[in-house]
Amino acid sequence: MCGQDNEKHEWQPPQAAVALDNDPNADEAFPWDQGSVYDAHCHPTDTMASLKAIAGMGAATLTVMSTRAQDQDLVASLGKEDPKVVPAFGWHPWFSYQLYDDHGKGGDNLVSLNDKRRHLASVLVPSPSSLDEPTTDKDKQLVAALDALAASLPAIRPLSAFIADTRQRLLDHPGALVGEIGIDKAFRVPEPAVGDKDSDKTSPCTVSGLTPGGREGRRLSPFRVQPAQQTAVLAAQLRLAAELQRPVSVHGVQAHGLLFSTLAATWKGQEKKLLSHRQRRQIAGIEGLDDETSDSETDDDDDNGPKKPKKEKTYPPAICLHSFSGPVDMLQQYLNPAIPATIYFSFSTAVNCSTTNGCQRTAEVVAACPDDRLLVESDLHGAGAPMDAALEDMYRRLCAMKKWTLTEGVKKIGQNYDTFIQKTKRIKGRP
Ligand SMILES: [Zn+2]
Repeated sequence: MCGQDNEKHEWQPPQAAVALDNDPNADEAFPWDQGSVYDAHCHPTDTMASLKAIAGMGAATLTVMSTRAQDQDLVASLGKEDPKVVPAFGWHPWFSYQLYDDHGKGGDNLVSLNDKRRHLASVLVPSPSSLDEPTTDKDKQLVAALDALAASLPAIRPLSAFIADTRQRLLDHPGALVGEIGIDKAFRVPEPAVGDKDSDKTSPCTVSGLTPGGREGRRLSPFRVQPAQQTAVLAAQLRLAAELQRPVSVHGVQAHGLLFSTLAATWKGQEKKLLSHRQRRQIAGIEGLDDETSDSETDDDDDNGPKKPKKEKTYPPAICLHSFSGPVDMLQQYLNPAIPATIYFSFSTAVNCSTTNGCQRTAEVVAACPDDRLLVESDLHGAGAPMDAALEDMYRRLCAMKKWTLTEGVKKIGQNYDTFIQKTKRIKGRP
């Protein structure tokens, strides 16, 4: 494990949030003793030295995401060792260029420098007009940057191999989720660090105490990952989540439309059939149902009409849109009652309240969000007191926005979390 020099690298949260002014619950002590404060999305394995602090935290459960090659095993062992941890296995869109889409055919790893650079040129933008004979200065610079990136990467794996590994991890961890997955159109690929070679990637530790493979303070290259590549990696993981009926934790930045259509493709043809008012009245007459029933809907599980053979669900049962930053109309789109998956909206101080405007937008979205679809997360890259502080801050903000006492808010959000992660099934175990 990492960090002979743990103490020298005390983990710090990235930025101060907008102050929480006029907290109506300022006099109420935070109810850690309820034992139901949850972090719906975080990355403590990015700072391995911080993991020893989890046991002393006030938070009852941390939902720990994996994102890339370097953190899958770390999250798996933490999930086995620490009863407070709900592990999640997934490949983040920031790293989607490190896989190639073999369309489930079982391809080989791309090992040679030439294969890696060709793959990178096909999934990153901007791309030079010619990889082998660049003529303009701009193209020559792009080729040099692609070559440096290719040289810094280990073998590029086929998507199907990653999916097969993840299926096995999920089967080994019956309570695990799929995450972090998603689409990010704003992200740029970091430049390789100076002297960063494939052979340097064998150690799980760096001098900084950060797990390798993340940003690690590197400068950003000009390259973005093409949306089609990100969508392919996301869609394959959504299919796996549907197959194993696991909840998912989803990242979306500047991609709300594409993210929605990719998620919606999973339930296409399996939408809930909403009954018309007249149909509701007919059913009420025939079957004695209350005409005022508001959520009349049918899906594959309904008891109305002749029994049809059960269809395999093609969508994940629950979807958490983490650090949700969309506007109110996007929230409404996800709340369409025909959507058969249950969509949750999770908020963090680090992302949602890092600016005054962001905080204001979050307040509008939270006001429009049904009480039973709210979650809280830290999205932080280290565990311990700063993570507890970030959670308390976001819980206090949500309770203030919803006009709940802290006791009430922590209880409600805790119930939402239990439903999101399908706690009952976790306890019973899964087939
Ligand atoms: Zn995250």
